[in-house]
Amino acid sequence: MATSIQNIAVIGAGTMGNGIAHVAAANGYPVTLIDLSPELVERGLDTIRKNLDRQVAKGRLEAADSVAILERVTPATDINGAAGAQLVIEAASERTDLKLGLFGELDRICPAETMLASNTSSISINRLAEATGRPARVIGMHFMNPVPVMKLVEVIRGRETDDDTHSAVTALARSLGKTPVTVNDSPGFVSNRILLPMINEAVFCLHEGVAEKEAIDQVMTIGMAHPMGPLALADLIGLDTCLAIMKVLHTDLANDKYRPCPLLEELVAEGKLGRKTGHGFYDYD
Ligand code: NAD
Repeated sequence: MATSIQNIAVIGAGTMGNGIAHVAAANGYPVTLIDLSPELVERGLDTIRKNLDRQVAKGRLEAADSVAILERVTPATDINGAAGAQLVIEAASERTDLKLGLFGELDRICPAETMLASNTSSISINRLAEATGRPARVIGMHFMNPVPVMKLVEVIRGRETDDDTHSAVTALARSLGKTPVTVNDSPGFVSNRILLPMINEAVFCLHEGVAEKEAIDQVMTIGMAHPMGPLALADLIGLDTCLAIMKVLHTDLANDKYRPCPLLEELVAEGKLGRKTGHGFYDYD
């Protein structure tokens, strides 16, 4: 029998972290949600609150259940708040140095059997595991955006991930109403090895004047039956996250076909990160 996970800590209360905390709490798990400042944690909680309110307004959730879900989320700004969890899901910004530091720190503060998962989009799970003294307990748990809606969890087994960690994490994903699909550790895994080069190519189409942004997105929505166009999807993911993933693919696969489009670099440098800042390829109110 795999370890049964009873409580969870989530590091990072941004786009993904608050979604993961929401889904875990909605399925009965106590969750500690940790970010760098009270304002950042509050912003994450506020998103959860708004999403729950929308469900209540649509009659899909009882108001009392919404209150109970929020009560299961404990906000924190100190990483030591993760020490009591059986599973820590790291969903901080997509930066290798930051994640290596976090995994080292989590390794120091958490009991030896605690499982450490990363929601990274592209960074090597083996590298994160090497930053700890417990590589067998490290795994990738890659949720999709928006977490409450999307069914896939791409589970990434590191070289040393043990069967108990893999079984416990896939069982947890199922208990959250998700479908886990296991892949091996490789830059971008399967999801972003395929998705991000397509998005990057759409940015090149815009950059080179092949078409207007609306036309590029329409070709893919109407023509290829994608639910969203690649530029609108990039805005949803976050242009900084898209750029970070392309850089990992470019460097780690050592192939110029993954070179990030200069327009993507420009928008990120201007602070136009997509929906989370109100401006990206499109403007958002
Ligand atoms: P985000 O920018 O919305 O949020 C990141 C959060 O991490 C921020 O609130 C930031 O303050 C916090 N953070 C940074 N350093 C921290 C630290 N030391 N301790 C605690 N919190 C810290 O980013 P996001 O889109 O939520 O991405 C988070 C992770 O999920 C990344 O690894 C990303 O690649 C991955 N991911 C993103 C998507 C997506 O569509 N956005 C999808 C799947 C996976």
